[in-house]
Amino acid sequence: MMNHAEKSGIFLGDHKRAEWHDQTLWLIRKKRDKAISTVSEWEELRDKASQIKEHVLSNLDVYLLQFEEEAIKNGAQVHWAFDAESLNNSVYSIINSCNAKMVVKSKSMLTEECGLNPFLENKGIEIVDTDLGERIIQFRNEPPSHIVMPAIHLKKEEIGELFNVRLGTEKGASDAQYLTSAARKHLREKFMAADVAITGVNFAIAETGSVVVITNEGNADMGVQNAPVQIHCMGIEKILPSMKEMGVFIQMLARNATGQPISAYTSHYRKPKVGGSMHIIIVDNGRSIHLGNEKYRKSLKCIRCGACLNTCPVYRRSGGHSYRYVIPGPIGSILSPLRDMKKYKDLPFACSLCGSCTNICPVKIDIHRQLYNWRQDISRRKLLSPSKKYGLKFAGKILSNHAFYNFFGKNMRLAVRHLPRKILYNNINVWGKGRELPAAPEKSFKQWYIANHK
Ligand code: SF4
Repeated sequence: MMNHAEKSGIFLGDHKRAEWHDQTLWLIRKKRDKAISTVSEWEELRDKASQIKEHVLSNLDVYLLQFEEEAIKNGAQVHWAFDAESLNNSVYSIINSCNAKMVVKSKSMLTEECGLNPFLENKGIEIVDTDLGERIIQFRNEPPSHIVMPAIHLKKEEIGELFNVRLGTEKGASDAQYLTSAARKHLREKFMAADVAITGVNFAIAETGSVVVITNEGNADMGVQNAPVQIHCMGIEKILPSMKEMGVFIQMLARNATGQPISAYTSHYRKPKVGGSMHIIIVDNGRSIHLGNEKYRKSLKCIRCGACLNTCPVYRRSGGHSYRYVIPGPIGSILSPLRDMKKYKDLPFACSLCGSCTNICPVKIDIHRQLYNWRQDISRRKLLSPSKKYGLKFAGKILSNHAFYNFFGKNMRLAVRHLPRKILYNNINVWGKGRELPAAPEKSFKQWYIANHK
């Protein structure tokens, strides 16, 4: 399987797409900055959100049981799923028990993580993703490339071609409004025909036993209101003590994600509809193991706003699919080695350690520090490739010895000035594959500093 660097190389090979992807995500980052500048207590909210999440993670046993009790009182049926297989089986058995054949689903990273769609399709169930971006990538048989904007890697012209084939839109049409109308018509038919609606969960409130689902398209509501059976899939970390804490996150989520003051729909589902049934599946799937891991447990505070992806210089220039994990970008590079360290050992190195992700995270996850920890753990487990291992050893020797450092600095400056291009841009110089080396200065910084600060 190709690693992150190789996949990024392919993404960067399409210069126009790479540039446009980078600029689009940066624009969203700027919108976010503007939106948070209107909230004077933003940093206090971040502190508060972080404290709430840490408190919840330390008291999951209490809040999850309280949530279950309240949800059952409300008339919902609560199921517990230890892993992906048990989530998928629980969903299937609910679908089976009501003889359903058609299921609509609103966006849920948890069901992506557990591979619910292919599981149900193999059982002969039609499952339709109803978030527009999700439907687009479902048509393309691709995983999402971003946790909030799953089809951000595609241009409207490509979507126009896809819809021409799948929905019969006019050939060559790429007007966003026209394509959205076509998708709306197509999805409405699916909503009306669905027997079951599945949603993810943004927050689950222990005090009320209700779940909160946030969307911009209202597709979760369309699904839940029309289908007789509703299923909400939530990770154990989605719990909040009460509605009071919800207020903190509601002010932050949309602003940090897309720069909107609030998402278009914040829906609270508390009890089944008259004549319908409501199921809530609480999923662990490795989270309680993460919880016991002091170094990485804080990654469970994530509210999946996607802002760390938008700001990351590596994600913006390499695209989500280069990460190969369901959650790409900085937070995905922490979560993926927790699942399979060997398979995803390259991801913590896909990072400049600039710390922009940590600065932007609404729940104050120390993302770049955790990535740095991963690098050390991967090295301790002897999982580094020989080139990285010996390269880092060599760099360590030079950087820890000032005589070596001066010697190499001087000779590298000379080499960059005088060696022919063919030798400088050899296969070992991966840095120079897509970039030009800067002109070598006459003097080192140290020489300049001594000369100017006598
Ligand atoms: S780690 Fe923080 S910034 Fe990144 S998606 Fe999660 S909450 Fe958002």
